[in-house]
Amino acid sequence: MDIKQEIKELREELTRANYEYYMLDAPTMSDYDFDHKLRRLEELEAAYPELITPDSPTQRVGGAVAEGFREVTHPVPLESLQDVFSMEELKEFDQRVMEAAGQLVYDVEPKVDGLSVALEYENGVFVRGATRGDGRVGEDVTQNLRTIHSIPLRLPEALPRLIVRGEVYMPKSVFHQLNEERELSGKPLFANPRNAAAGSLRQLDPKVAAKRRLNIQVFNIQLAEGKEFSTHTETLEYLESQRFRVIPHTLCRTIQEASERIMAIGDGREDFDFDIDGAVVKVNSLSDRELLGSTTKFPRWAAAYKYPPEKKTSKVVDIVVQVGRTGVLTPKAVIEPVRLAGTTVTNATLHNQDFIAEKDVRIGDTVLVQKAGEIIPEIVSVLKEHRPEGAVPYFLPERCPVCGAAVVRDEDGAALRCTGAECPAQLLRHIVHFASRDAMDIEGLGPANVENLIQAELIKTPGDLYSLQAADVAKLERMGKRSAQNLIDAIEKSRHNDLSRLLYAFGIRQVGQRAAQTLARQFGTLDALIETDEETLTEVEDIGEITAKNIVEWFSSQQSRHLIETLKAAGVNMESTAEPVGDGLAGLTFVLTGELSTMTRKEAGERIQMLGGKVSGSVSKKTSYVVAGEAAGSKLRKAQELGVPVLDEEELLAMLEK
Ligand code: AMP
Repeated sequence: MDIKQEIKELREELTRANYEYYMLDAPTMSDYDFDHKLRRLEELEAAYPELITPDSPTQRVGGAVAEGFREVTHPVPLESLQDVFSMEELKEFDQRVMEAAGQLVYDVEPKVDGLSVALEYENGVFVRGATRGDGRVGEDVTQNLRTIHSIPLRLPEALPRLIVRGEVYMPKSVFHQLNEERELSGKPLFANPRNAAAGSLRQLDPKVAAKRRLNIQVFNIQLAEGKEFSTHTETLEYLESQRFRVIPHTLCRTIQEASERIMAIGDGREDFDFDIDGAVVKVNSLSDRELLGSTTKFPRWAAAYKYPPEKKTSKVVDIVVQVGRTGVLTPKAVIEPVRLAGTTVTNATLHNQDFIAEKDVRIGDTVLVQKAGEIIPEIVSVLKEHRPEGAVPYFLPERCPVCGAAVVRDEDGAALRCTGAECPAQLLRHIVHFASRDAMDIEGLGPANVENLIQAELIKTPGDLYSLQAADVAKLERMGKRSAQNLIDAIEKSRHNDLSRLLYAFGIRQVGQRAAQTLARQFGTLDALIETDEETLTEVEDIGEITAKNIVEWFSSQQSRHLIETLKAAGVNMESTAEPVGDGLAGLTFVLTGELSTMTRKEAGERIQMLGGKVSGSVSKKTSYVVAGEAAGSKLRKAQELGVPVLDEEELLAMLEK
């Protein structure tokens, strides 16, 4: 078969498979075949790059990392909507419309809480996608939009030009999963799916955007060259025929019917895989729309009904405390069941001790709860006149309810955190951190495998890793004999790590990699460090009072001691293998800039520190030397300005060797 023909057929097959999989939920091609064919197409396109077209299924994540986004002027502006907050306001909207246009039919749709985008097709091929921006000028996010599988890259009918508008969102399930992963790796959480979707759509690297599994609901034709429609419904049906994912829509003959539909959408909001922040009522006839026109801000033919957050009273039956995977204690009020925004609610978040104190929530209290959007229900206020006699103020426990270890308040916030080195609630995170590359560097021990080991009850504390048996590990899901043995070997190897890795692996608050290295070098053995008091610790470089306190507290806890005993018994190295501490550079501060030829800047820094010198990131009068490598920039200039002596690589080496 000729190459061109084969490429064409592969594209058609893959495009159809994609549509069946993502849009119809009815795949007819196996994943295996799909991957296989996609690979074949990629190979052919790599060999014949001139045959690559933007609508090829290979181009969904093909884009390079962008430096920024180009501006796009929308040929048809992306208008905003007028809000209505009550049924009275909705009736007023209806009256205004009736006066201008007479008898009408409305279309009612959920208002997706995401990001508005315009998708542009030329001759049926997706050529450009842009954010709304200010409605007139947005940003070109074509590459990221291509990663959304429900956006067709080629349409069945090739109109010269078609622009459609839709709302990009992150499915609720993806949002929850993403936040869980972020929590585990210590990254800040996204506040809600909307923020997460916005962040994802503006990723400069399309590969990151692709992982976010965004989706879209299309709800308007902005422009269709060579096509006439008379109603909004017709346009939506056309979009469906062109394989877009189209917003659920219902025709209503009166405003009464429309308001019933709005209520039904609100009650059924849980069933959508996207968040909604209202419902949109639109005049269905396009000629009536023209008659009504627009104000400077929004069309007169549509209105967005915003649901008020529903509030109900209930009673606090109990206050329970959960320990999250990062050790944070979260108090929760168990309340008598109430129906709120379409679901039965049985508990409400109390956030933290400060929140409880501020609202003065007590067990037995009657409270007003609300559920705004999809967020966990919240206590708005306490109805103090209903407080039963004898109700006492509530305080979070001083010990972890899961493991009994002491609880400390975060340095920078209201959160209380469990300090237990072997706390079961934090086991997953502890082990993932323990095994991570910068800590004990145990290859093959990522979150999925750790989760499996915990599920199978093969490990209950990080120390248990060292007594794992290959035969047991091999029984786990997706674990052959071979990979089980590899894992055991990797664990075995980690026994010989330098003390600094172990110290970092403990996950003592505020003891990062650098502090761990300094401590290991300074004290030489774990035992020596354990015996050191707080005051002496603060004399160590980079160790402040809080860190010193954390270190002493951590080593004094029973769980930590148990962990250390287990590791010792397993033969884990507890000594620093760093060269003996020299002090030839004590009292000197270095700033490194530019590229060195015999070592990396990091290595140079380590060698300086090993000899008692300090390395800083910025040049000041206190800097003793600036070491300038190849292509040194502003730091070198600053050194010259301040009269700080400058060393080249050779001079530095001479100093290190002396
Ligand atoms: P606002 O941002 O409050 O002015 O509301 C207008 C926004 O709602 C627009 O940017 C649209 O992208 C968005 N929207 C979500 N769903 C719909 C829908 N079904 N019809 C029209 N606009 C919608």
